[in-house]
Amino acid sequence: MFKIIHQGHLFAPEDRGVNDILICQEKIAKIDKDLSHLGKQLEAEVISADGKIVVPGFIDEHVHFLGGGDYEGPAGATTDIEFSSLTTSGITTAVGCLGSDDTARNMLDLMRRALDLEKLGITTYLYTGSFNVPSPTITGNVRRDVMMVDKVLGVKFAISEVMASSSSLKEMAEVAKDSYLGGLISGKKGLIHLHVGKKAQRLEPLFDLLKLTDIPITYFVPTHVNHFEPNVMEHAIQFLKMGGTVDLSAIMDPEAGSLSSLRPDLALSEFLKAGISIEQIALSSDGNVSMPIFDEKGNKTGLFNAGVDHLYHMFLMIVKNCRVSFSDSLKMVTSNVARVLGIENRKGSIRVGKDADLILFNKDYSIDVVLARGRVMVEGGKALVRSYFE
Ligand SMILES: [Zn+2]
Repeated sequence: MFKIIHQGHLFAPEDRGVNDILICQEKIAKIDKDLSHLGKQLEAEVISADGKIVVPGFIDEHVHFLGGGDYEGPAGATTDIEFSSLTTSGITTAVGCLGSDDTARNMLDLMRRALDLEKLGITTYLYTGSFNVPSPTITGNVRRDVMMVDKVLGVKFAISEVMASSSSLKEMAEVAKDSYLGGLISGKKGLIHLHVGKKAQRLEPLFDLLKLTDIPITYFVPTHVNHFEPNVMEHAIQFLKMGGTVDLSAIMDPEAGSLSSLRPDLALSEFLKAGISIEQIALSSDGNVSMPIFDEKGNKTGLFNAGVDHLYHMFLMIVKNCRVSFSDSLKMVTSNVARVLGIENRKGSIRVGKDADLILFNKDYSIDVVLARGRVMVEGGKALVRSYFE
């Protein structure tokens, strides 16, 4: 029932120095310099974190639970995500979404997979909708989904995307309003997660939606903005200067086959150079989708499944390459994301009363232990919990 994480260097994400953490079932019960005595009284299981770094579990706000890359045709689309690929990447909370295909894939199947992953041990949420407007839903409309389905935090749809429906601005505004109002009524965020495609308009539809709906800017979160052809970064900086928050996609890396993308660490450096606060930036994987493989001449020779582990690797790139502190880099995958999603009362930081979602890093930042809601999911970097058919 009780566990003690003993003598780890805590980044909560702020630097709190060496501390013990007492876990009672799924929650963090106490944080103090030395809880050995209390641990003995409670007969707590002790996990040594001596010489290790303890951080909040990562929150991945854009994961294709069912697979994606649907425009590569049936043979090129990826399938259900492996549970342990999430936990071994340090992800203890994941938000699932649909992409371009909402015909063969649907919200009920996405919900089923979210429930499966939650049962195995992590925390899952969803966006209702897909690329297209009108949105596919669970209950029949977006407002009802946000109000009535616990797991639904908001809606997703695409702007400036050639693979999406050609919906009018007014239709998009209605969907955004439904999510926002559903959130207000039910006490959730009701955010609007926007896939930004490669059409020349870039974030123009978002600027129009802000004017048309009067929804506060903090409810809109454009993703895949680390793109330079067309130059989405320029519009992203404009949006950030207005007070918005953006999401960078870890798999959008020229080395991973996304040739017109700007690697997230480079995108972050540009934002910081433009005077943007790191509090306004989040990073997600966009993982479990197919990405192209090219030969030296630039010909497409195949596809690979770009996994959620890109989130962890890109986080390390940011730690290594960007002029930001370790705790500030952490915010992009923990506290900033929790705030964007409106789940900061439960997730995104190491505080008494919050979920015991923790990563123990070795000194070289390799992942040693991962706990999700107080249960050990990964030990010595290896998954302890797997679904039957992994
Ligand atoms: Zn995606």
